[in-house]
Parts: sequence; structure tokens; C-alpha cells
Amino acid sequence: MRRLSNDELNHIRTSVDIVDIVSDYIPLTKRGKNYFGVCPFHEDSDPSLSVSQDKQIFSCFSCHTSGNAFNFVKEYEHVSFIEAVKIIANKAGIPLDIELSSKNNDSHSTLYNAYDLSHKFYQNNLNTVGGKTAKEYLIKRSIDDDLIKEFEIGLALKSRDVLSRLLVKKNVDEKTLLESGLVDKRDGELVDLFRGRIMFPITDINGKVVGYSGRVYDTADTSKYINTKETAIFKKGEILYNYYKAKNECRLKDTVIITEGFMDVIRLYSIGVKNVIATMGTAITKKHISLIKRLAHNVILLFDGDKAGAKATLACANMLAETDLNVKVIRLEENLDPDEYILKKGKQSFLDKLENPISVLNFKLDYYKQGKDLTDDEQLSQYIKQVIDELSIINDDILTELTLKKLSVETNLDYEFLKAKVISKPVDRVIHNNPVVTYDKYVKAEIGLIHYMLLSPEVIKIYDNQTFYLPDQKYRILAKEISAFYEQNGYIEIADLMNELDEEMVKTIGEIESNNLSDNYNKQLIMDYINSIRENNIDQQIARIENKMINESDESKKIALLQQLLELKRRSEENA
Ligand SMILES: [Zn+2]
Repeated sequence: MRRLSNDELNHIRTSVDIVDIVSDYIPLTKRGKNYFGVCPFHEDSDPSLSVSQDKQIFSCFSCHTSGNAFNFVKEYEHVSFIEAVKIIANKAGIPLDIELSSKNNDSHSTLYNAYDLSHKFYQNNLNTVGGKTAKEYLIKRSIDDDLIKEFEIGLALKSRDVLSRLLVKKNVDEKTLLESGLVDKRDGELVDLFRGRIMFPITDINGKVVGYSGRVYDTADTSKYINTKETAIFKKGEILYNYYKAKNECRLKDTVIITEGFMDVIRLYSIGVKNVIATMGTAITKKHISLIKRLAHNVILLFDGDKAGAKATLACANMLAETDLNVKVIRLEENLDPDEYILKKGKQSFLDKLENPISVLNFKLDYYKQGKDLTDDEQLSQYIKQVIDELSIINDDILTELTLKKLSVETNLDYEFLKAKVISKPVDRVIHNNPVVTYDKYVKAEIGLIHYMLLSPEVIKIYDNQTFYLPDQKYRILAKEISAFYEQNGYIEIADLMNELDEEMVKTIGEIESNNLSDNYNKQLIMDYINSIRENNIDQQIARIENKMINESDESKKIALLQQLLELKRRSEENA
């Protein structure tokens, strides 16, 4: 692949405004010189992300994620740097003549390649004579040709090793084959893991196929579905079925519908509801939540109508309660899952349900009531306690009031008595933010110096001409990078410099910039910083010599060390 030159990169970057780029993903508000929004890179509801139009960079003062427009898109979309460049070039209308394929810039390219090959193969199988029964089965299950195409459904043939042989022929190495979860080795021979199954591909958040759910269709196999095992590219805790395809629709509707199974997604899609994803039967993880938060502010939990589905709804609602997402619930009657419900009750009946989701609190009240005999004092008491506990957590006066009134009627207990039981506990909000760091004056001097080096060639020249040593390695390396960038290009621009730095170093800039230092300086301020750093250098040398003296037994060497020490102390006083 051709590498883009710095000039090309800078041309693309300066053709867009970072404020527009970030605004495409998160709402920004202008405050003073900068724009602010809720940082998508850590759990938060406060606007800790600041975007500087002057410098064309963003930085979060909480998690310190930072960078230019490319870095933002790369982090947000989970794509490679070069893919982010391509996305931005597209927005700017700049044609880029570089080939972007997963083969070129991904460490798991061989695995992706194996999936790509298998995916094409499976899809083709469904249209061959060997795929006739499977196709009939799908049609019988109301999955028509359009849906087959849309969800790229395929078929693993019954043969023992037809896929394995194909992949070997296409030069996929054995290590990759065995790691892929598609092939196994039995008695020294490679065999296909999926045989005689309809294959539903599962894509990662970038739309690449990374796994399958394989369903039997003409035998009474005990395992109706089998899913790909965890691999380097298929991590269940990070995968949400249909995420890639549903992304835009979710953002448009500002609502994500979450189901348990991929069949539910396909069925909803068939009646025109496209802002839907599925958890693939795993418990929802923090990673899932951070993905969901990127799509919308509203979530509808649409799990199976059975007991297990209610339990999963409760668990998921509790996980989501820690976020600022607005969560609603839909419960389906007769133990039906969404797929079955739509097939049995029809599109309109389902759409009516979708229009009227219930609150999480109401769902929980129903849930706690279920299976309890409220004429039994003990069970009634347990129910009341569960309701009171929920009300204590939610911290919502009006909702508490309404619920208590209902509960009072329902249980024949005095309203005032119930009310006294609700103790509003402060909600233990998990704080994910980095603790506020306070820097000592030496670190402040390093940070200040670099901040102004990033702004002004004059300060870079001062840095180049003075002798001192930045004590912190990360600042030392960064200062050298800034100086080298200036020497090479004859100007300094943070956003351009960032293209040449690694992630850690970009983050260090974010950390420095999040101190919100003024952009104005005078030469005296810079010299004060340098003097502080020198003072620190001398203190460190003194400490080292004092240490040596303690361990030195040779008198003459001790005297030499003492002389060095006195000289340093003299310099230290001079400096002060
Ligand atoms: Zn952040």
C-alpha cells in the first residue's frame, strides 16, 4: 500500500474543520473560545471533551484522549488510522488513490481473510442443488430471498472437509485455520466444524464477518444453534449482532432496540424496523454499553417473553441504570420471542407494542409481583420491601409518589406508613473519571514549557538553545519530537504534529492541553519554567551524589564527591 505523504495528510486535515467532524458524532456547545461535548471515550455525562477550533484538536480533561480530526474518527469508529483518513477525505471530497483492504493494515488479516472466503463460499452454497432443502426451510420460516440477501445468510454443506480444503487451496495456513473456529483437526486431518447448517454471519462493529451462528434445518440435532467459539476477532463481550448495519438508523431515531437473538433482528427488519441489534444470548457487558451509547440516548429492551427473558431484562436494565441512557421495556405475552410474536400476531400488533414500551420501574414492579401470592402475608411483605428498595434507588419524587399511591391501594397499607419506609439513598454513581491530578511545580514547569513549544517557534528555539534535562521521560521525548518537527518543517502545528506521534504521545499532549493554560506567554515565563526544571535537575544530582557518598569508603573519592556537591549547591543557590 502506498503511504500518504505528510503534505497529503495535512492537506486533507486542513480541508475540514474538526468542530464539524466531531459534531457529526456528538453534540457540541460553544463556551468561550472552545467547543464542549460529552466525551465518548469514557463513561460520563458531563461535557469533559473540549474541541479547539484554533488548534484543530480535541482533548478530554478526564480521560485525556486527545488528537486531531483523524484521531477522533479513528477512536470513534474503531478503524485504523488510514481508514480514518479515508473517511475524512471522503467528507472533504478529496479523492484518495489508496487501496484500503483489511489485508493491508490489520494484525488479524489472515483470520479476516479466512472468514471472507468462508462467507462467500457459504452464501454461494445456498444457491446450489445442495442448498435446496435449506432454502426451502428458510422460506418456510418466512425468510425470503430478500432477507437472505440482506443478512447474507449461507449454508455449510454436509461434507466433512469441503471448506477446509477450499481454505487450504487459497493458501490459508494451518495455524490460522485452527484458530479461526471454522476448522478442527481430528486424527491428523482437517475437518469442517460447521456441517449441514444454515449459516448466519455475525459481523464486528466495522461490518466485517468474524463469526457465525449455524442452525440445523433437517435433523433433530440436540444443538439447534452453534456459535463460533471465541477467537482473536470474535469476542462475544464486544459483539452486538447487526450493530454495523443498524448504526445509522439508530442515530436517526435516537433509539436502539435490543433483542436477545439474531432471528428477532431479522424479523423486525422484515417489517421495516431497522434500529435493532441483538446480544447473541450473552449478558450485556461494559463494552456493549459503551457501543450502545454511541448510537442513541434511548434504549428499548425487547427480550423473550419467557421467564428467562424477564430475568435477562432485569439484569440488563440494572446494568444500564448506571448510565444516563433512557431505558424502556417491552414484554411479550405467551412466552413468545419477538420473532414468534410477529409471525403469530402480525406486524400491526407488534408495532402497537413498540409504540408503548413501559418504564423500567413498572417492569420491575410486575416482575417482583409475578409468582407471588399477595394474599399471603409473607409474600406480600417481600413484595413491598422489593418495591420500597427500588424506590429508594431511583431518587425520583414524583415517580415515588405515584407508585406509593398505587402500592397503598394494592396492599391496603397506609400511604404514610409506606412513605416513611422509602429512604432516599444517594445513588452510588460509579466514577470512572481519572482522579484530578495536582502537579508539583517541577511538573508544572515541564507541562508549561511543552504547551508553549506547541504554540510558538520562539519557545522551541529557546528550548533548543538552553541546557537542561526534562526529568519525565514522556515529556522529554515529546519535547524532542516537537523540536524535530520544527526543524524538519519550519513551522509548528499541533494537529499536524499529531499525525507523526504514537498514541501514547498524543495522549500526553491531551494531558498537557487539558490544563487549559493560557495561550499567551512572555519570555520571562518560559525562563522561569526552565529555571525550575534546572533547579530540579540540580536537586536530583545532589541526591545522587549524597547517595554515593554514603556508600563510598575511599576517603579521597569521598572528598571529590564532596567538592562536586558543594559546587552543585552553589549553583543551586545561584539559580534560586
Ligand atoms: Zn474522556
